[in-house]
Amino acid sequence: MDPLIQVDGLWKVYRTGDIELPALKGVSFTVARGEFVALMGPSGSGKSTLMHLLGCLDRPTRGRYLLEGSEVGGLQPNDLARIRNQKIGFVFQGFNLLSRTTALENVELPMLYEESSGKERVARAREALERVGLGNRLYHYPNQLSGGQQQRVAIARALVMQPSLILADEPTGNLDTRTSVEIMALFQELNEAGITPLLVTHEPDIAQYASRIIRFRDGEIQSDRAVEGRANAKQTLETLV
Ligand code: ADP
Ligand code: MG
Repeated sequence: MDPLIQVDGLWKVYRTGDIELPALKGVSFTVARGEFVALMGPSGSGKSTLMHLLGCLDRPTRGRYLLEGSEVGGLQPNDLARIRNQKIGFVFQGFNLLSRTTALENVELPMLYEESSGKERVARAREALERVGLGNRLYHYPNQLSGGQQQRVAIARALVMQPSLILADEPTGNLDTRTSVEIMALFQELNEAGITPLLVTHEPDIAQYASRIIRFRDGEIQSDRAVEGRANAKQTLETLV
């Protein structure tokens, strides 16, 4: 097994005034490269908190986090930002695209922090958009695109730095059923190409496209198991009209 994520005894305690709120209480698990993990659990169970820690957007109160074998828990903000940009792609429920900016420019954004020529950035952004099926929408603005297309732009933006890991917090939360399945087909395709998606979802149907489901409750792992009879999103699409 080739471990991509190893977390061991991960705690996150939020402090507001005198009140301490433990959002994660000593969570431990490993994700191998090539898995496709769905995180489930009721609202307030700590899923987003975990995504923030895994995404190097926040630091744990206690515990270890190794990404591709390297400890990231104790890194300084600059190093965290570099790792985040190079190794991790983010996808959110609300797409988070810049509205006055074309699809192509949105996808170019993560590359602005590295030394690449404008020409190279355009070529790579175009390639990422082609990969998500939007080669014919390069110069569209977000408000000229459907929700599903906007989420594809966000996925292209996540892909453009060739991350090992994609973190997606309820990526289908704002989409209708068919569009959700289309997005899951894209995630399954990327997963087959070697990317490891970790996706938060409230919908049991959506979780069935993952290879493993980890359920949270009150900041702890309640269950962690492989998906039996995993669904194939491309096949589901053929049955939907
Ligand atoms: P989920 O994503 O599963 O709904 P969260 O990780 O967002 O859960 O929240 C877990 C708990 O931590 C909740 O009780 C929430 O109110 C609390 N929490 C989340 N973020 C903060 C924060 N920045 N400050 C204080 N408490 C927070
Ligand atoms: Mg959440």
